[in-house]
Amino acid sequence: MLRKAVRYRLETTPEQEHLLARAAGCVRFVWNRALAIQKSYLEHGCGILSYVDMANCLTTWRNGESFGFLSESPVHPQQWALKYLDRALQEAFDKSNPKRFPAFKKKGLHDSIRYPGYPDPEQIKIDLKPQDADGRRLLPKIFLPRIGWVKFRKSCTIGREIRNVTVSRSGGHWTVAIQIEKEVLDPVHPSTTAVGGDRGVANLLTLSDGTLFLPVTAYRDLQKRLTREQRKLAHKVKFSANWKKQKAKITRFHQRIAEIRKNVLHQVSTAISKNHAVVVLENLKVRNMTGAARGTVEQPGPNIRQKAGLNKSILDQGWGMLKAMLEYKLRWSGGMLLLVDPAYTSQSCPVCGVVDAGNRPSQEVFHCLHCGHEAHTDLNAARNILARGLQSTAGRAGVACFAA
Ligand SMILES: [Zn+2]
Repeated sequence: MLRKAVRYRLETTPEQEHLLARAAGCVRFVWNRALAIQKSYLEHGCGILSYVDMANCLTTWRNGESFGFLSESPVHPQQWALKYLDRALQEAFDKSNPKRFPAFKKKGLHDSIRYPGYPDPEQIKIDLKPQDADGRRLLPKIFLPRIGWVKFRKSCTIGREIRNVTVSRSGGHWTVAIQIEKEVLDPVHPSTTAVGGDRGVANLLTLSDGTLFLPVTAYRDLQKRLTREQRKLAHKVKFSANWKKQKAKITRFHQRIAEIRKNVLHQVSTAISKNHAVVVLENLKVRNMTGAARGTVEQPGPNIRQKAGLNKSILDQGWGMLKAMLEYKLRWSGGMLLLVDPAYTSQSCPVCGVVDAGNRPSQEVFHCLHCGHEAHTDLNAARNILARGLQSTAGRAGVACFAA
């Protein structure tokens, strides 16, 4: 069973935008109120309330006077917020692998409404080929409870089984993400090639076949303007009308940056997963790398400035996101993503096999001290990564036939 999410931009009317913003506000209210209750239970050493208890609270709120406004927005996304909070709390208390304690949601950030698990077809309907009275084609539309029919721009096909639907606001407009599920029996990838990819600083990704993907510079370019806007914010009276206006401007900046980055990563991952059946990447723990430099800013070491720059590039380029995108896109088309040990991939010679730190005289050049082989460092590393990936799968059925 494979899952895939498709995202479309909604063509909302001002009235619908108002309803969506209100529905998202209600979801945020339910989350924050439930979290406050759970926190006070914890502070009094009483453990936490179960999802069922919280769902009963929600019913009381919706039927009561003080929070009756909640009943004017759809109930399922509000229940989903409680379920999601319940899971987040359990994960935070999971001793073997504790996750971060859930936080209060701020207005305007990550506004979203989720219609969970196999929505009732009576509740959520999708009309892909609507026509007007004269038989002309209209934009496809989706029916959302309490919001109504909303048109959207469709760029690829939707399957039959809708798993869940999320409507969210990003960069000033609303989009709908529809997660679909379909049975796929061993899809066969149209390509038979394997490729290694080195995630560098100068380039987003260098492939072992020589293809280069340039870095996402949008963040850096916008960062300068963002810093300027943030400075302006600091000079305004907190919570004044001007301050709020400036704050909203900054939020839009952040959303634009995130959106540009995501679009670029989608383009890159789609191109690679179409052209190659097997993609090999290094198993880098990006979160650890970025965490380490932040922790040492208080006590700066000799390379801290340089390290901070490197980490910024890593975050700029969203490597974790790229990996996740490649993973599901390859799986969807019958290919696979392999992750290999990153040790010494930039210092190994692919010709004679010798590993030596001296093999890399500069950031750009690889020069083997033993056999004289010379290449661009990133390309060289990509070839080593590919070789490592193919080696790790040698003898495994179905993989041996892929050529470099
Ligand atoms: Zn060599």
